[in-house]
Amino acid sequence: MAVPVSGESVGVSELKRTVLDGGYCVGCGACAALDGEPCRIALNDDGCYVAFPQACCQSSADPCCVCPLSDRSIGTAQLAHSLFAAYGARYHDRIGYYVSSYAGHVTNAKLRADRTSGGYCTWLLLQLFKQHRIDGVIHVRHREPTAKNKTLFHYVISTSEEQIASGSRSSYYPVEMSEVLQNIKTLHGRYAIVATPLFVRAVRLLCMTEPAIRERIRYCIGLMCGHLKSAHYADILAWQLGIEPDGLRRMQFREKSSCDAGKYRVVAEGIVAGKAVRRSAPIMNLYGTNWGLGLLKCIGDDYSDDVVGELADVSIGDAWMRPYRNDPKGTNIVVIRHPDIQDITEEGLCDGHLALDRISPEAVAESQRAGFLHRREGLIYRLSLKKMAGAWHPPSRVQVCSSRSSHTFVMHQRLRLSLSRESYVAFRRAVCDGSFFSFVRTMNPLVWRYAKTMSFKAMSRMLFQNYWSLFCFFLRKPFLRYRTK
Ligand SMILES: Cc1cc2nc3c(=O)[nH]c(=O)nc-3n(C[C@H](O)[C@H](O)[C@H](O)COP(=O)(O)OP(=O)(O)OC[C@H]3O[C@@H](n4cnc5c(N)ncnc54)[C@H](O)[C@@H]3O)c2cc1C
Repeated sequence: MAVPVSGESVGVSELKRTVLDGGYCVGCGACAALDGEPCRIALNDDGCYVAFPQACCQSSADPCCVCPLSDRSIGTAQLAHSLFAAYGARYHDRIGYYVSSYAGHVTNAKLRADRTSGGYCTWLLLQLFKQHRIDGVIHVRHREPTAKNKTLFHYVISTSEEQIASGSRSSYYPVEMSEVLQNIKTLHGRYAIVATPLFVRAVRLLCMTEPAIRERIRYCIGLMCGHLKSAHYADILAWQLGIEPDGLRRMQFREKSSCDAGKYRVVAEGIVAGKAVRRSAPIMNLYGTNWGLGLLKCIGDDYSDDVVGELADVSIGDAWMRPYRNDPKGTNIVVIRHPDIQDITEEGLCDGHLALDRISPEAVAESQRAGFLHRREGLIYRLSLKKMAGAWHPPSRVQVCSSRSSHTFVMHQRLRLSLSRESYVAFRRAVCDGSFFSFVRTMNPLVWRYAKTMSFKAMSRMLFQNYWSLFCFFLRKPFLRYRTK
């Protein structure tokens, strides 16, 4: 137990000793949404939201109880059981409780084209609203950056169909919920919240301690999540398009192309030499976008064992499997746990608003294979490192056993940790040098070592994308300078 410094509650010092000092905070904002606000959330120098304890706060609330990574908060298994077992949901060891699981998309061609994947998430939110089951949606939208706050996305409350439909597509960008959650305590009404797995867990924990939040959040819509990115991820993408970090104004991480669903485009808007510009490129042509590399990711999220959002009433992801991934128009995978959402989905199927195939929970898990490998087997390795160092680590459902992993697997995981850590150093260096290529110079030796731990096929694919994106960067560079004039 930590000894509180003067003016600090025991809960705050415990949070500091464990989650905050260990660098695990994902800045979800649950602790700052508690009455009395024992913490505040702010962006750190690495472009990630983190909690900062408020000096001399009079709050008696214990932030550890709502922190998704604290060992003093209720475990995912217990929460999931209390939420879904009563609905007669079955249990699968990788996707958690489920009533049904599907792959498919909305049939409205415009809605599907405008959305991240198959459009099911926005369709469902609109249905919940139109059927008066909710009065608003808490989700993420673009924001105009200002001199004081340069962030590009934030959580908002949408209370009309137009606002709900204008939620951003998947934003691989830091967001935090404290402000919207504080707001709904004073606003009356019923809401659905869209969130990634750790954030859903934080909301569920908050519902246990804050009656006003419990009363208002009626549905949790989960987005499956490989990992969370720092704001600097958007910076490196835009930089490759000739927009320097200070000039970036708007980012669209996923614009559909005519190739397969994974080959989407990135669109950046910003100011170059005093002029507003809008530039885009296929994701494949941008350096550092291979998710396996884990560049500029939020480190704390690496210690979550939940890939699909097991505490959500419905989990929504991309159908990264054949034949669906070949369809550039985008296809969702959906895992339903709440009977209301099952009813709405069945109505959508009957009315022809949805085109969904029933798929098995194994097929869902298989579509997120890389995520499960990282958050299960990979997590065992990361936790064992913490154990060996005698350091505190977040609780987990994976069992840290004496490692049966091969030398290559261990090297692979070790290099993943180095890649994430080093990418922040490389970004800072690149900003000092005023050159994106400085980022590449720092990262490339590690990328090369990492690639060597992969199978020949995976290594060739990774190195090809790496060098292809660099080739594209140099090819693009003189053209970008010309366009800027
Ligand atoms: C950080 C992140 C990582 C992801 N990783 C994976 C993955 O590994 N595998 C996978 O299958 N799917 C992943 N997804 C989910 C996937 O990208 C799609 O969001 C999902 O398939 C829903 O598609 P849709 O067309 O139904 O959503 P849409 O109809 O486009 O609706 C998207 C909704 O999500 C909200 N939203 C956007 N960004 C965020 C955010 N950062 N946090 C909370 N809400 C947000 C928007 O406000 C909008 O309401 C990830 C999403 C995010 C945000």
